[in-house]
Amino acid sequence: MYSTDVVKDNFYITASKSGLESSEIAALKRSIPERVNLKQLKKDESIRLVVGKKSGKSRIVAYKLSSGKSEYTAYRISDSAFYKFDDNIAQANLAYPKPASARLSSSFNPSRVNPVSGRLSPHNGIDYSMPMKTRVVSVIGGTVTKAEYNKTMGYYVEVSGKAGVKTRYLHLNKILVKKGQQVKSGANIALSGNSGRSSGPHLHYELLINDKPVNSLAFRPQKAGLSKLEQHAWTHMQEYEQYLD
Ligand SMILES: [Zn+2]
Repeated sequence: MYSTDVVKDNFYITASKSGLESSEIAALKRSIPERVNLKQLKKDESIRLVVGKKSGKSRIVAYKLSSGKSEYTAYRISDSAFYKFDDNIAQANLAYPKPASARLSSSFNPSRVNPVSGRLSPHNGIDYSMPMKTRVVSVIGGTVTKAEYNKTMGYYVEVSGKAGVKTRYLHLNKILVKKGQQVKSGANIALSGNSGRSSGPHLHYELLINDKPVNSLAFRPQKAGLSKLEQHAWTHMQEYEQYLD
């Protein structure tokens, strides 16, 4: 599998140079909005193709279309049709991929009260109890914006991604990334621990949207509600994603 460079100007010329047959180009054309003129892409338009081989033939398996401020990604889920995912974060899986050895030990609770002081003490994330030094992965792709120690949060990492989405990983044993580093979703960023204000080995995972803490479990795709085609698309998305960024 490979991805083409972002296609500009005349899409057809680039596509046929990449060895795509006309039926492939036609399938793509059907899935693209009519306002996009493939013969002459505008300055602020671009398409990135992910091409795979199937029985010797080149096949478009995914593409990302950018047009001005809007952008969407489409995945091939049958020989003819593409399934589109727009930038709607509600469709993204922003829940932490809990390892089998972990359990959810404390939920998101913005109105938690400290039983001793009686004061409001919001729990802005989800706690997963897990053995010391369990690998911690980044939920989103993006830039490491914090990788440091704090008296309360302990060793912690913050990864900032697209659309105002930030994720934080607290009480770590060891940080494996540096500030400013780019990470992909699923990348190892740390080992879990018990640093800072923590009463036992666990990972505190925080999801912020436009700097507001939100319940990450609400951003778990509702797998049961997905159609067969959508399920299929989800399983392929992870695989194709690395070629699209
Ligand atoms: Zn916590």
